Amino acid sequence: MISIHCASCGRRFFWYQNIGKGKLLHCWKTRITGDHIEKAGDQVYCPCEQHIGVEEGPWIILHGGSFSVKGSALKK
Ligand SMILES: [Zn+2]
Repeated sequence: MISIHCASCGRRFFWYQNIGKGKLLHCWKTRITGDHIEKAGDQVYCPCEQHIGVEEGPWIILHGGSFSVKGSALKK
């Protein structure tokens, strides 16, 4: 599991089960646990009002630069 943090306030948005390599740009909603995000329609925000992405079908598309990643991905 990795944790996704707000680049603005450092709050953790959610835990994410990251499978595979490469840049994290979209997150499967089914792999997200313990989220602390706020939604307005399909727009996704941090409680500090930083805009972090857009919900699009089964994914949340994250803005590059609006978040930081901690932890290490599962190796498969
Ligand atoms: Zn924030």
